[in-house]
Amino acid sequence: MSSDSNCIFCRIAAGQIPANKVYEDDEIVVFHDIHPWAPVHILMVPKAHIVSMADVTAEHAPLLGRMMALSPRLMRELGVTDGFRHVINTGRDGSQEVMHLHMHVMGGPRPWAKG
Ligand code: 5GP
Ligand code: ZN
Repeated sequence: MSSDSNCIFCRIAAGQIPANKVYEDDEIVVFHDIHPWAPVHILMVPKAHIVSMADVTAEHAPLLGRMMALSPRLMRELGVTDGFRHVINTGRDGSQEVMHLHMHVMGGPRPWAKG
């Protein structure tokens, strides 16, 4: 699996940097965002170092599908009962700050800090 030792999300995936994890399997790690915009704000991250959605091809479809399909279950488990929002930022114009593909999933009662 591709990995970049300078990448913060690769290091979280490898257990080298702590994170408040809510889910983990062979391919995916999910943890709470360190600066949450909403009462519940998780980041769903493939363990492989894929830089952004701009690098995604058909071979990644099962992985992305699994991430999408997992999100409602995790939000339920985290007590979100009234809807949630998915955000994926891509590249500079997409306001991506961490250059390792991740899906924000946010929920909980409004108002939110952002989003
Ligand atoms: P982006 O703008 O790249 O979509 O968002 C990156 C997100 O990662 C931000 O919401 C930021 O708060 C979060 N983040 C950055 N570094 C860390 C970290 O070390 N740990 C955790 N849990 N979240 C991080
Ligand atoms: Zn990475």
